[in-house]
Amino acid sequence: MARRYVGKRDAKDIASERIDRLFELAEQEAHKGNHGRAKRYVSMALRMGERHKVRAGHKRTYCPECLTYFVPPRNVRVRTGRGRVSMTCLECGHVLRYPLGK
Ligand SMILES: [Zn+2]
Repeated sequence: MARRYVGKRDAKDIASERIDRLFELAEQEAHKGNHGRAKRYVSMALRMGERHKVRAGHKRTYCPECLTYFVPPRNVRVRTGRGRVSMTCLECGHVLRYPLGK
């Protein structure tokens, strides 16, 4: 099996740049109210991250269930309490919880 060593890091860099760009586009579309398009950008970014084994550092900006890009308070409810944050996706009802202060 042939392996390519050259350019692997570059490909990853390019991939993570594209992922950033796709999330930017998703944000723009979501703010314009084009949620279908925003979702498509989010799913493209996630697919690219998977393919290149790049971690998309954009958790908590979208719903992991239905890929809605969060525009608070329009489509997500954010609550804090007891050192935790919970985000409820108003599209599908999925709840994300994570500790506060990170
Ligand atoms: Zn959702």
